[in-house]
Amino acid sequence: MPTYHYIATKPEDGCPRCSKGFDLRRPISRPALTECPLCKTPVRKVITSVNTPRVSKPMSVSDAKSAGFTILEKRCDGSYEKL
Ligand SMILES: [Zn+2]
Repeated sequence: MPTYHYIATKPEDGCPRCSKGFDLRRPISRPALTECPLCKTPVRKVITSVNTPRVSKPMSVSDAKSAGFTILEKRCDGSYEKL
């Protein structure tokens, strides 16, 4: 499952999570996320393959946590679980 990085289109309107950007793993068949799952502020997908070296080395959850990211995984019931 690919990991996408999202950030609020207007960071000043977002919650602390999306105003700084967050990573989200979701099936490639799903349409792009359009709003923050936490505060519903519009978000845009950030293309990270251009200038982030970590693409070649996928971040583990523990790596992401230590880097300050919060990993959200969508569960079957539609809610997001904080790992
Ligand atoms: Zn938000």
